[in-house]
Amino acid sequence: MDMATLHDMPWRADIEFQHIICRVGCVPNCIGAIAMNSPSPSRSVWTAIGRGARGRCPSCSGTKLFHQFLKPIAECTHCGQDWTHQQADDFPAYVSIFLTGHLLAPPVVLLVKTVDLSVGALLALILPAAITMTLGLLQPAKGTIIAIQWWFGLHGFQSRKDFGSD
Ligand SMILES: [Zn+2]
Repeated sequence: MDMATLHDMPWRADIEFQHIICRVGCVPNCIGAIAMNSPSPSRSVWTAIGRGARGRCPSCSGTKLFHQFLKPIAECTHCGQDWTHQQADDFPAYVSIFLTGHLLAPPVVLLVKTVDLSVGALLALILPAAITMTLGLLQPAKGTIIAIQWWFGLHGFQSRKDFGSD
């Protein structure tokens, strides 16, 4: 089987085969090269999401995805994936606020119904919890959104189905 035939294969089905045969830099955007450099290339959107949510490179998990709190790295030093194409914008904040509201609502309702506290005391309990949860969920939400954009080839990312067609 020659290299051209290998590169016509759907990348997910044959990545282990390419991992063995392909050499780094054989063609531009060679998925085999990515596979050889990465400890474990993502095989599903769920793997990519899990890695992004943990702040790891969704492609290979070899490096951190963020070099500042919400600032993703330009390029993975491990697999070479370019992350400058991500356009999460304000969506991580919406996701974080949505999740915080839904996770915090049941305990707040329970607290209000079962404990007789003043409004000031309730706010002193609820506000720090809400702020902490919102900030804590921001980076995982952004990592998840970047992983989804990358997996589905949104914005400037190369579509997964385009891999191997060079
Ligand atoms: Zn990587």
